[in-house]
Amino acid sequence: MTEIAERPIETADADTELGHVHHWIGGRLVEGNSGRSGPVYDPATGRKAKEVDFASVEEVDAAVRAATDAFPAWRATSLSRRTEIMFRIRNLVDQRRKDIAALLTAEHGKVPSDALGEIARGLENLEFACGIPNLMKGGYSEQVSTGIDVYQIRQPLGVVAGITPFNFPAMVPMWMFANAIACGNTFILKPSEKDPSASIFLAQLLAEAGVPEGVFNVVHGDKVAVDRILEHPEIKAVSFVGSTPIAKYIYETGTRAGKRVQALGGAKNHMIVLPDADIEMAADAAVSAAYGSAGERCMAVSVVLAVGDVADPLVEAISARLPKIRVGPGSDAESEMGPLVTREHRDKVASYISKADADGADVVADGREHPLASEDGFYLGLSLIDRVTPEMESYRNEIFGPVLEVMRVATYADAVKLVNDNPYGNGTAIFTRDGGAARQFQFEAQVGMVGINVPIPVPVAYYSFGGWKDSLFGDLNMYGPEGVQFYTRAKIVTSRWPDPGTSKVDLGFPRTR
Ligand code: NAD
Repeated sequence: MTEIAERPIETADADTELGHVHHWIGGRLVEGNSGRSGPVYDPATGRKAKEVDFASVEEVDAAVRAATDAFPAWRATSLSRRTEIMFRIRNLVDQRRKDIAALLTAEHGKVPSDALGEIARGLENLEFACGIPNLMKGGYSEQVSTGIDVYQIRQPLGVVAGITPFNFPAMVPMWMFANAIACGNTFILKPSEKDPSASIFLAQLLAEAGVPEGVFNVVHGDKVAVDRILEHPEIKAVSFVGSTPIAKYIYETGTRAGKRVQALGGAKNHMIVLPDADIEMAADAAVSAAYGSAGERCMAVSVVLAVGDVADPLVEAISARLPKIRVGPGSDAESEMGPLVTREHRDKVASYISKADADGADVVADGREHPLASEDGFYLGLSLIDRVTPEMESYRNEIFGPVLEVMRVATYADAVKLVNDNPYGNGTAIFTRDGGAARQFQFEAQVGMVGINVPIPVPVAYYSFGGWKDSLFGDLNMYGPEGVQFYTRAKIVTSRWPDPGTSKVDLGFPRTR
């Protein structure tokens, strides 16, 4: 086994307690010099906790240079050694779960159980990438013509970039960089400016694991950094996860610049409950999937489609559960749901409750009335809105908060029509005891990820993640086998080792028979 030099790791606290989050370029922290930065809040108190540097064009270029310089050696590093490093990254992330989770709670606001859950799902991607020698195998066909063999090899693209959202500051970067670097690419991460510290902590763990300088870089920032990533000629591919308007912009701009792009967007996930479903189980699932992570999940259930006479008992069962959910800061072990990420986002989510009310929906539970909603932290209680109809603004938009809407429909066909007419197609679920109905739903739902009695069907790391319609722009899904495909190019080699004695000129079309 190859020896990997041990490098000391500075603790995350040493780097982040200073109140300033810097870039990570060429294997070290680099203080921003653009003169631009943004605030990072503690959502539980509403206080500004840190400042994050915003990269200039020149700073993005410096990261690209570091990644470009690191690529030839990294690409030439043996699969065994890259695998060993992936194992070491996996082990370090595993060992430091609690430290990473603490950063997520501090900047995103999610409660520790949720933060640890995010890291566990991210770890799956690192574990998948540990199998890279197997995943990068090509095919080999012997004797396609006399004395001629054909084989396929998969090669890395070069410098690739990932642009990530606020809601999974650790998991979504792992969705991307695990496969990207395991395949031999070098990587530039532009994390969300709202909760940037986890990315720097991960960068330090990667360095400790033996990832060479320049293979993994982090530049913080806003549109300036993103636009430079999209136009930089050395960046060969861009992975994006975020809202739909930005996903579309990233896809269009990146592909116009000749890059490979996968851009995952927003969602409006419907959960159909058929009359034969177990009401208590469906209510548990709806509450867990709607309010977990304060609804700030792209796979959160945001709409329940109650079919037939299931609506009254279901709404009653859901509303009975809401007062029992403890809302509070992640620092309180009793808290089950934390605050929202920023004040602006909290206010935007709250505005949809007012709109639904004004549009004639029935606000069964109003999160604005929660005692913490008038405190300085960015809290909102749990909201349940019944009798929502398709033209209402709260239905036509992604709310991305702890708000569950219920639509009452007469038949299964009405429910499926709503799912399929919706411009988003990320996730959906059906709750039923009828295998035939479930199979029919799986057959006809125009959605990328379907749950059958499973409310949040996020694929395990050895499948790939991706929605349909306005939830994904691009041809390949995120992580898993499609992730490996995204970060590699196939090369087909046709090979012959002839006896020079048999060589002759032949202008005919190459024959195989
Ligand atoms: P966002 O689109 O506002 O930001 C995502 C990234 O894009 C960030 O890094 C941000 O700095 C950058 N960005 C923002 N505005 C930009 C602009 N005008 N030009 C260039 N770059 C810009 O998303 P968010 O609020 O951070 O995250 C929430 C959204 O992400 C929700 O819509 C959610 O559904 C979606 N999401 C989708 C998935 C999925 O897998 N489909 C997963 C998680 C989150």
